[in-house]
Amino acid sequence: AAREAVAAWTGPAMTSDGTPVKLLANVADGPSAIQASAEPVRGVGLFRTELCFLNATEEPTAEEQAEIYTHVLGAFGDGRSVVVRTLDAGSDKPIAFATTPGEENPALGVRGLRLSIGNPGLMDRQLDGIRLASERTGTETWVMAPMVATVAEAAEFAEKVRARGLKPGVMVEVPSAALLAHRMLEVVDFLSIGTNDLTQYTMAADRMATDLAHLTDPWQPAVLQLIAITAEAGVQAGKPVGVCGEAAADPLLACALVGMRITSLSMAASAVRAVGAQLSRLSMDTCEAAAEAALGASDPMAARAAVRTLLAG
Ligand code: PEP
Ligand code: MG
Repeated sequence: AAREAVAAWTGPAMTSDGTPVKLLANVADGPSAIQASAEPVRGVGLFRTELCFLNATEEPTAEEQAEIYTHVLGAFGDGRSVVVRTLDAGSDKPIAFATTPGEENPALGVRGLRLSIGNPGLMDRQLDGIRLASERTGTETWVMAPMVATVAEAAEFAEKVRARGLKPGVMVEVPSAALLAHRMLEVVDFLSIGTNDLTQYTMAADRMATDLAHLTDPWQPAVLQLIAITAEAGVQAGKPVGVCGEAAADPLLACALVGMRITSLSMAASAVRAVGAQLSRLSMDTCEAAAEAALGASDPMAARAAVRTLLAG
């Protein structure tokens, strides 16, 4: 019966008492965007642009990039919005034309936004490509940077994005960004929490290390607290704060995130219906109770059990 309810759910996503929740898709390229656009999503919450260039040996020109981005933005030109993430190259995603090989600690090295340090033009050319695609498709385009650690980085990025008529945000993947979320929101228009990296950097545990799965768990109380701090900053500032890591695709955790006042959840398109169906069965009060229970638990297992019990009752 649960499976039928998921299949039957067609959106729009909201709690049983009518609080809307923006469900969005994570996409990698034109074909995955077209596929995602058929799902009941309000748009794209994470377009991982670096995945378009894994095999590129040279940096594509702004025009070449614009052609690729136009496929993705064009799939949502029907009034929906797309959040484009600038190159998140480095560490687990080396890109020949952007990253420095042979770093001792690539996860803590020159990756994401930090690539601009040695190559400032890289960001400018990508933003030019995104602006062209946005103009050509007319799709509402938000642009965010990955691996932001300081407010100064966010401010500099926001200026470049606004200069092109686009809406700037930053990802919250580093604990410093979560702790300073309220100040980040003074310089950008939105935040998006990347729970995969936020968990990795909060727990000092490699997200690829299968032996450390008990630590790389977004239900860890320290990770949940950082998410709650970030969400609260969004409420105070009146600006959107979403989650775009794997945590958003967990129907149980999604309820707790909504209870923390996270405004959007972005996930693999295949996960959207299960999350939407789950949320439609719960009141905002229940989601808030789930958030409180998860935040109060002493470890991930206890947090899951507490939320599961609450939702069953
Ligand atoms: C994340 O870190 O949670 C995220 C969404 O980005 P990626 O998985 O691409 O690093
Ligand atoms: Mg990340």
